[in-house]
Amino acid sequence: MSFFGKPKYSKILIKKKDIPPGLWEKCKSCKEIIHKKQLEENLMACPKCNFLYPLPSAKRIESLIDEGTFVEMFADLISADPLKFVDSKPYNVRQEQSLKKTGLKEAVITGWGKISGLDIGLAVMDFAYMGGSMGSAVGEKITLLIEFAVERGLPVAIVSASGGARMQESTLSLMQMAKTSAALGKLRRKNLPFISILTNPTTGGTTASFASLGDVIIAEPKALIGFAGPRVIEQTIKQELPEGFQRSEFLLEHGLIDMIVERKDLKDTVHFIFDFFMNNKKKLKKGNNGKGTLKNLKLAKSII
Ligand SMILES: [Zn+2]
Repeated sequence: MSFFGKPKYSKILIKKKDIPPGLWEKCKSCKEIIHKKQLEENLMACPKCNFLYPLPSAKRIESLIDEGTFVEMFADLISADPLKFVDSKPYNVRQEQSLKKTGLKEAVITGWGKISGLDIGLAVMDFAYMGGSMGSAVGEKITLLIEFAVERGLPVAIVSASGGARMQESTLSLMQMAKTSAALGKLRRKNLPFISILTNPTTGGTTASFASLGDVIIAEPKALIGFAGPRVIEQTIKQELPEGFQRSEFLLEHGLIDMIVERKDLKDTVHFIFDFFMNNKKKLKKGNNGKGTLKNLKLAKSII
């Protein structure tokens, strides 16, 4: 009965090479089939539904900073392991594996460059490196960058993507919260603006320190932003959380962030705000402890 059986050539017709592997992807959100190259060209935002995939730190810098102007700083700083911490594997092994996986030495890239012609200090966290956790070196790099900006009179932007403080460094990582916050205090006393950009996810000690201290706090759409994760809160308070809890839109409605900006519009928005602050800075009186910056923030908000 082979005449009625499955044609022998069926396998030839759907040869694998007709659909090259790795070129297409099914969108996690809208389930549409999307071309990977198109996704990359669209800054990892789904061209069909605008769902945001993680953007690697190098690509983020490329999307914000004018071509060829970014100068990386403090690139060789990595966390030591004074506690010789071991969980399911030793901390130094985790560091080596993360380096191999991401090509990054730490969970943040710091440096300075031009955003539409304006010099800024920029730090970009990368969730792919140990969940973007804030260890001693991450805190140190961010602090050094802010101090550099204070010295040079530059505004600062930090793009966060972080699971919080790095547990393998215990108290040493928690101390970074105070250190980075104190550095931002110096920036403020110089009347230099700081824009905090929150991406999915920004949680824990990162949210509880520099990420929440922006003169303007911007979030990407639908980003998870909070201190403890929603599951932990639900288990603690034994209540179901409202829909959209800890997402950008919910936080905007409740006043925790200033604005939600699409990824493709971030560069123009950040430039606009910095340009506004820096050009009005000259009018501020010296030593007014940042009151002028606040006044300008109100002005900027009324314009935006
Ligand atoms: Zn989609």
